[in-house]
Amino acid sequence: MKRRDFINKAGVGAIAAGGVLVAPSVVHAKAQFKWKMVTSWPKNFPGLGVGANQLAQMINEMSGGRIKVKVYGANELVPAFEVFDAVSKGTAQMGHSGAYYWKGKNEATQFFSSVPFGLTAQEMNAWLYYGGGMGLWRELYEPFNLIPAAAGNSGVQMAGWFNREIKTVDDLKGLKMRIPGLGGEVLRRAGGTTVNMPGGELFTSLQSGALDATEWVGPYNDLAFGFYKVAKYYYYPGWHEPGSTMEAMINKPAFNALPADLQSIVLAACKAANMDMLSDYMAKNNQALDTLVNKHGVKLMPLPDDVLRKLKQLSEEVVLEVANKDPLAKKIYTSFNQFRAQVSNWSTLSEQAFLKARALV
Ligand code: CA
Repeated sequence: MKRRDFINKAGVGAIAAGGVLVAPSVVHAKAQFKWKMVTSWPKNFPGLGVGANQLAQMINEMSGGRIKVKVYGANELVPAFEVFDAVSKGTAQMGHSGAYYWKGKNEATQFFSSVPFGLTAQEMNAWLYYGGGMGLWRELYEPFNLIPAAAGNSGVQMAGWFNREIKTVDDLKGLKMRIPGLGGEVLRRAGGTTVNMPGGELFTSLQSGALDATEWVGPYNDLAFGFYKVAKYYYYPGWHEPGSTMEAMINKPAFNALPADLQSIVLAACKAANMDMLSDYMAKNNQALDTLVNKHGVKLMPLPDDVLRKLKQLSEEVVLEVANKDPLAKKIYTSFNQFRAQVSNWSTLSEQAFLKARALV
C-alpha cells in the first residue's frame, strides 16, 4: 500500500520523497494491465496462498505498477477446481494452483505437479528448467490457451493424517482417504477408497468420519488446518508427493498482449516465486513439526518399508498406464523417467550420501 501511495503521489507531480529525487519513469508509471489471479487455496493460506500473494506482489513491483495483479482465494471469484477453466477462457488472466488437479483435461498434467516416487523439488526444477520438462508442459497446455510456469514447491510432503495405525498393506484396505492425483489411484489399487476435495473441507470430513485419513502438505500447512485435533497418527514420508510443483498459469492472449519486457517480468517473477515458496516451507516445516509433536502430542510414524514397497510397485504400474493414454503423455513420461533414472545416480551419491554422513554420530 505504501508503494502504491508513493506511485500515486509521484504521479501528481511530487518530485521528492524523503529527499530523494523521483525518476521520470516512476512519475509516469501507470497500471496499463489489470490482471486477476484466481487460486485453488484459501485466501492468505500459509505457504500456498502466501506464495500466490508474493508472486502477485513481485509482478506489481517489478513492473513498476504497469501490471497490477489482484489475487482471489478459492471461491472468491471461482471455486478451487475451476481455476484452469477460468484462466483458459480469460475470466482471469492468471491462476495459481497445482497441475494434478487437471487430470480430467489430460492425465499427463500430473507429471507437472508430482509423481509418486518421482522427483524431489531440486530434481523437479532441474527437469523443468534444464531437462526438457518446461517445453513439454507448454506443449501440453497449448490447446487450452494457457502458458504454464513453475511458481512454488512444497518440498517433500507428509504421507498424511490417519485415524488408525498402518502396520501392513492390509491396513490400507477400505481406508477412505483424501489423496489427489496419481497417489490417489495408487491407494485405490491398494484397496483404499480415494476422494479429492479442496483443503478447506478436510477438517470437517475427518471429524465427521466421512474420511479415515487425509494427506494435505506438511507440518507448516497441516498445523494451520488443525488436523491434529481430529486424527491421531501423522505418517511420513510423502511417497506420493516428493516435491510438488505449484503452477502459475497465464492466459495466452493476455500474455501476448504484454510488451516483451513485461512478459519477461512475469516469467522471472514466477521463477523467483518458485524458489521463494520452497524456502518458506523448508524454514517453517520443522518449527511446525515441533509444535505438533511437543505441544499437541501428535504421534509421528514412518510408513513400514513393506507398505512403501507395495505402493512403489503400484505407482510404476499407474504411471505407465497414464503414459499409454496418448502420444504426448508417452513423450512426457519418457522424458520424466529418463531424467529420474539419471538424476537418481547423482542424488544418491550427493544429497543422500551427504545427509547420511551428516547424521552420523
Ligand atoms: Ca498433498
